[in-house]
Amino acid sequence: MLTRTQSASPDTQPHMSLKVYINGRLVDKDDAKVSVYDHGLLYGDGVFEGLRSYGGRVFRLERHLDRLYESARAIWLEIPIKPAELAKAVNDTLRANALEDAYIRLVVTRGAGSLGLDPNRTSDPQVIIITDKITLYPAELYERGLEIVTASTIRNHPAALSPRIKSLNYLNNILAKIEGLQAGCIEALMLNTKGEVAECTGDNIFLVRDGVLLTPPLDAGILEGITRDAVIELAHEAGVEVREIPLTKHDVYVADECFLTGTAAEVIPVVKVDGRSIGPGVPGPLTRDLRERFHKLARS
Ligand code: PMP
Repeated sequence: MLTRTQSASPDTQPHMSLKVYINGRLVDKDDAKVSVYDHGLLYGDGVFEGLRSYGGRVFRLERHLDRLYESARAIWLEIPIKPAELAKAVNDTLRANALEDAYIRLVVTRGAGSLGLDPNRTSDPQVIIITDKITLYPAELYERGLEIVTASTIRNHPAALSPRIKSLNYLNNILAKIEGLQAGCIEALMLNTKGEVAECTGDNIFLVRDGVLLTPPLDAGILEGITRDAVIELAHEAGVEVREIPLTKHDVYVADECFLTGTAAEVIPVVKVDGRSIGPGVPGPLTRDLRERFHKLARS
C-alpha cells in the first residue's frame, strides 16, 4: 500500500486544488458556487448520480448517464447539454484532477429562480461534476459483514415520488439513515408502504435462500441500482437462479445470506438484521463469490 508521501493523490499536493466542473468550465473547488436562489438548494429540485472510476475508466458511465437523463425527464428538467458532452466532461474532470480511482458526483439543479415553487421562474440549470478520492467502507466490514436495522421511515410511495428518480431530495433516505446511525448501524433497511422490503438508504438488498438469489422487484419502489443490475448479470453468468420477487422482513431473517450493492459499497455482506444473525452470522459463499466477480468486472 502507498503511504501518504508516496501517493500521487491530490490531497497530498497542497498546491493543487481540486477542479470542479460547473456549466462547461473547470474551476477551483473553492470557486465552484451556485446561487442561494437555486431551486436545487431551496427545494431539492434537481437530479444527481454517483459513479466510480477504476484505473481512470468510469464504470458503466453510459448507464449512469441514461439514469440521470431519465430522472431529469421524470421531473420535467431539461439538461442543457447532450449525454455525449457530459460524458466527455466527466472524463476531462477526472483527468484535470489526476484521479484514477475516484468517486464522481453529477448534479443537475433546476437553477436559480424566485422564492416560489414554480420551476418556470427558474433559468439556467446548473450542471456540476465533482470528482474526489473514494472513501470506502472499512476493509474489515467486508470480511466481518455489516449489521443493519429496519428503519421505521417507509420508503417514498412511488405515486408520491418515485424512488426510481434519483432526485436531490434525499430526505426520505436521510431520515432512515439517521435511525440506522442512532442504532449504531451505517446502513438501514427500508420497507415500502405495503410492508415489503424495498432497499437500504443508499444500497439495494439481496438475499440468498437455498442457492437462489432473491431481490425486490423494481415495483417494490426502489432505485434501479446499476450495481444491482451488474450483480444480477454476474449471477446469471455463474449459473445462479435470480428471482426478483416481493420480500418481507421474515424472508430476510430466515435467509442463508444477505448482502447490499451500491456504487460506493460494491457488494458488502450483511450478517445481522434487527439483532438476528443471518445464516451462520458470517459472510456466505455466494456473497463472497459475487463480490469477487464484481470486483473483477469493475476493474477489468
Ligand atoms: N438505492 C438508493 C436509494 C441509492 O441511493 C443507491 C446509490 N445510488 C442505490 C440504491 C444503489 O445504486 P447504484 O448501484 O446505482 O449505486
